[in-house]
Amino acid sequence: MCGIVGYLGNRKAIPIIMEGLKSLEYRGYDSSGIAYFKDHKIEVIKKEGKIQNLDALLNYDEDTFMGIAHTRWATHGKANDLNAHPHTYGKITLVHNGIIENYEDLKKALFAKGKHFESETDTIVVACLLDELYEETRDMLKAISLLMQKIQGSYALAILCKDETDTLYAVRKDSPLIVGVGENETILASDIPAILGVTKNYYLLNDKEIVQVKKNKVTIYDEHLNEVLKETKTYQGDLEVSSKKGYEHFMLKEIHEEPEVLQNLLLKYTKEDKIREVFDITPYKNIEIVACGSAYHAGLIGKYYLETYANKKTTVTYASEYRYQKHFFDKENLVILISQSGETADTLAALKLAKENGIDTLSIVNVRDSSIARSSKYVFYTDAGIEVAVATTKAYFAQVIALILLALNTVEDRASYLASLRKLPSFITKYIDSFDYESYAKRLATCEHIFYLGRGIDYALAMEGSLKLKEISYIHSEAYPSGELKHGTISLIDENTGVIAVVMNEELKEKSISNIKEVLARGAKVLAITPIDEDFASSKILLTKEDAFLNPLLAIVPMQMLAYHVAKIKGCDIDKPRNLAKSVTVE
Ligand code: GLU
Repeated sequence: MCGIVGYLGNRKAIPIIMEGLKSLEYRGYDSSGIAYFKDHKIEVIKKEGKIQNLDALLNYDEDTFMGIAHTRWATHGKANDLNAHPHTYGKITLVHNGIIENYEDLKKALFAKGKHFESETDTIVVACLLDELYEETRDMLKAISLLMQKIQGSYALAILCKDETDTLYAVRKDSPLIVGVGENETILASDIPAILGVTKNYYLLNDKEIVQVKKNKVTIYDEHLNEVLKETKTYQGDLEVSSKKGYEHFMLKEIHEEPEVLQNLLLKYTKEDKIREVFDITPYKNIEIVACGSAYHAGLIGKYYLETYANKKTTVTYASEYRYQKHFFDKENLVILISQSGETADTLAALKLAKENGIDTLSIVNVRDSSIARSSKYVFYTDAGIEVAVATTKAYFAQVIALILLALNTVEDRASYLASLRKLPSFITKYIDSFDYESYAKRLATCEHIFYLGRGIDYALAMEGSLKLKEISYIHSEAYPSGELKHGTISLIDENTGVIAVVMNEELKEKSISNIKEVLARGAKVLAITPIDEDFASSKILLTKEDAFLNPLLAIVPMQMLAYHVAKIKGCDIDKPRNLAKSVTVE
């Protein structure tokens, strides 16, 4: 989950490393640290909390030209100074992204040899083991290669060795790491934004590849230490990824980008009544969607469109459950994996399982060349641009549109659907501004619990609305199928409970309205998000009534805006909510 940066070059390293690290803060922010060479010694500075706490301790003018840094999302051990990375043992100092699954066994073996360390992390075990292997081999490359035979789990490591003042090492397995190559300088990082201050050109690393960085030379080896020759890739996107472009938060900026993102997808993949370059799902019997978090919710919306319009039976499964459930693998099915980052560990594991069992895989991914994109048989890039706010908005919406395009690709008589879809960007632009979200949010911000209700597709929408609200405002929220509430959960409803009812589906409106009346009768205040101009809730965000195909999609932006304003009123850190990280690279 965390962010890693390493730099070696002819410029002072600390400003470059810190600029990179700040651009990765979305990946984890419970502590951060840096290590660099000074007078042939490795200096380590680390601090609990956000990167600004570390920043305050640094001298940007330090004469150092090589270093490594980390912003942590703790998996093993509290988020404190002691457990913050980098970790040092003997001659080795390193930073780590991932989880070492056999660290307890390794720790016991190292303790039995008289080695000791105070940090509770799994990472310190790697530093200790690598130091031991280096002492045995006196050769960093051999030591790293042997290390990989002993550690299990996921890792991206950037490593300094006290004896090698001119060399930086790195290695990865199941955690992302790229190698940016500039003129006389190299920058290692977990993700593209961190390298852009130095270069747009980078190498992608495969699992278990080792990188050795010297002043004017980057050498990549496989796990058996054979040299690997690679072509560099060039980042083509926006260079200003770390700028909020005048918006108060990245989340708000990214919601404002939605019309353009969707417009671009429609322009790229549709022309008049034709759909082009979109994967054809027609030959497959059933569709299995596998994803986590908001991508799972996008999958639920996709299920509705794939079943209703493409007539394809579709299941949606949490990636973390997919691996461990009983499978009835059917080669006539297609597995669709959805992930913004393309690095989601659970989704990647599910992808590998499907592949191993001979199932065709299609990934819907935002980040080009990410692990999931590279590992799946087919890819649909959502091209929503880099998303910085931890709570996804534009990438989620783009995933929904990608799924709808897959469905429409199978429909012959699609002209009217496409015409509807083309109206969506202008509706979004309108809905970002047309309601007084702040006044609705003021009422919601005082609630301890907020339920989102919906039936059918409205329930799928409600699930994402509820997740968005709880992840950034910390208000407890659940989404419930409207009809299910009375089978237990209605006991929680009283006059202090907030209820948001999503009623976009005209066909189900009578039943949905009856359920809203049930909670009103128990004193709850109900805010409806709906195009139905009838008096069935305490208040209403009234949307335009469009056709059944487009209607559900109109509720998405109002729910995002509501969550944003509730979190803002509550003074929450909207772009970096507590305990979360954007790219979930641990299982
Ligand atoms: N497992 C390591 C820790 O808890 C690394 C976590 C991360 O990726 O930030 O410190």
